[in-house]
Amino acid sequence: MKPYKSKINKIRSFALALIFIGFIVMYGAIFFKDNQWLVLIFMSLGLLCILGSTAVYGWIGLLSTRAVQVECPNCHKHTKVLGRVDMCMYCNEPLTLDPTLEGKDFDQSYNQKQHN
Ligand SMILES: [Zn+2]
Repeated sequence: MKPYKSKINKIRSFALALIFIGFIVMYGAIFFKDNQWLVLIFMSLGLLCILGSTAVYGWIGLLSTRAVQVECPNCHKHTKVLGRVDMCMYCNEPLTLDPTLEGKDFDQSYNQKQHN
């Protein structure tokens, strides 16, 4: 089992989920068509989700430019590494930019804490 996903992939799934939530919420407004205010609230909420998703997509774009491109040692595809440790976007191989962490078990916490 591989519980971790590449960070960029994770954010991308989140943005995609937001779009779906936005549409579902907007669709939900149909059920309240008797109450104009509820329709308005649902529509705005749905629109907010979709706008938020657009913002997240923009953010991914920014992150991608800052991420380091490396060739995955496992599948030999070019993937992007964000932070000190990340996963390959294609095969979920753990990758690190920090030579002191090489060979160690993958741990998401390396990104938060300083391990000296
Ligand atoms: Zn790979």
